Amino acid sequence: MGIRVDTEKCTGCGTCQPACPFGLIDIIDEKARINVAGCNLCGACKDACVYEAIEIEQTVVQVPASDEYRGVWVFAEQRNGEIKGVAYELLSKGRELADTLKTELCAVCIGYNVKDVAQLNAHGADKVYVIDDPALASQTEDPYVAELTRLIREHKPEIVLAGATPFGRSFFPRVAAQLKTGLTADCTGLDIDTEKKLLRQTRPTFGGNIMATIICPLKRPQMATVRPRTFRRNAPDANHKGQIIKIDFNKSAVISKTRLLNFVADMSEKVKLDDADIIVSGGRGLGKPENFQLIRDLASALGAAVGSSRPPVDEGWISYPHQVGQTGKTVCPKLYFAIGISGAVQHLAGMQTADCIIAINDDPDAPIFQVATYGIVGDLFKIVPMLTESLKKG
Ligand SMILES: Cc1cc2nc3c(=O)[nH]c(=O)nc-3n(C[C@H](O)[C@H](O)[C@H](O)COP(=O)(O)OP(=O)(O)OC[C@H]3O[C@@H](n4cnc5c(N)ncnc54)[C@H](O)[C@@H]3O)c2cc1C
Repeated sequence: MGIRVDTEKCTGCGTCQPACPFGLIDIIDEKARINVAGCNLCGACKDACVYEAIEIEQTVVQVPASDEYRGVWVFAEQRNGEIKGVAYELLSKGRELADTLKTELCAVCIGYNVKDVAQLNAHGADKVYVIDDPALASQTEDPYVAELTRLIREHKPEIVLAGATPFGRSFFPRVAAQLKTGLTADCTGLDIDTEKKLLRQTRPTFGGNIMATIICPLKRPQMATVRPRTFRRNAPDANHKGQIIKIDFNKSAVISKTRLLNFVADMSEKVKLDDADIIVSGGRGLGKPENFQLIRDLASALGAAVGSSRPPVDEGWISYPHQVGQTGKTVCPKLYFAIGISGAVQHLAGMQTADCIIAINDDPDAPIFQVATYGIVGDLFKIVPMLTESLKKG
């Protein structure tokens, strides 16, 4: 792709100059000159030019035939042989996508001594491709990139999903690069454009201020990563039968540039928000750090974990591992208390899939009430101690 000015047609009138959002156009010797190095080919100058003197050359991309790529795939990540929860969450969403597209859902599990592979079938996979080999135990990326790329090239799925875990974020883009296709990272929503049969991949952008829906119309497969706990995990269905297909590890084809010397678990994080069934979160409405004790007391009465919106973390009232939201944790508990939290989109991004949300806020118009299952309008300093006391009395 490129942009050029037809100097025969250009009159040097300058109407293109203000149209360029990046100020890349100069008029020199009565002709427009575009600084192509900074140009993203948005076409605003072309649209502004009444003399049709600006041309953008498009590279013709071969769109794959609609039936060449079929099926929705989920990369089922494991560590030390245990399949991660995000794999089941993605299969639950993947089942919906596959049913909409009237195609099959497959899981790919790569590792060593992986347990409970049949659970992937019970969570919706029609086929599970398993590559199990001692050489895959250390989970260095190169063999995973090579093997997933090989399987995708062979079977041609139209959609491939992976968890936005540290491993997924690192190895999955390398697979996309090998396949020369697009990848949308950290999606918070996935659905199908039924007319065009495209995956609509929604994620926060511009610092979380807007949600962008991204499509990949010209390349296959369409690839996306999704943060753990973004989608609800369906209950397993033992009646959903599927195939387990064992594939030999193609060791000779893998050139590994890395070697695992040691693995040191991160013990710094003691707050187990991810696994909590009940979370009690406090926000800026608490006013000062000491008041977080109200949240801790209620959490202790309920046997719950303590969460927070971002301002108390920024103010140093509570540490970062407690933060729920776009730049904190994504959680999906059975019960979530939002106390003195307004319900900004960045907070909702981390908790809105909770089964039941109870909001306590003195502003009846606070956006949190739009997602709350139950809303209590009133002063948290009166309501929370009353709740804690009555729970303690049992
Ligand atoms: C890039 C980016 C990333 C972000 N990431 C996150 C994130 O991960 N998590 C997050 O939470 N935010 C995040 N934010 C910040 C987010 O935009 C909001 O500013 C934040 O969530 C607001 O926190 P809050 O609801 O505690 O405070 P506020 O919006 O100030 O709300 C306080 C609420 O308390 C209520 N209140 C006050 N006094 C009382 C009382 N006595 N009784 C009852 N209610 C009372 C008020 O009515 C109000 O609704 C991010 C922002 C950006 C730009």
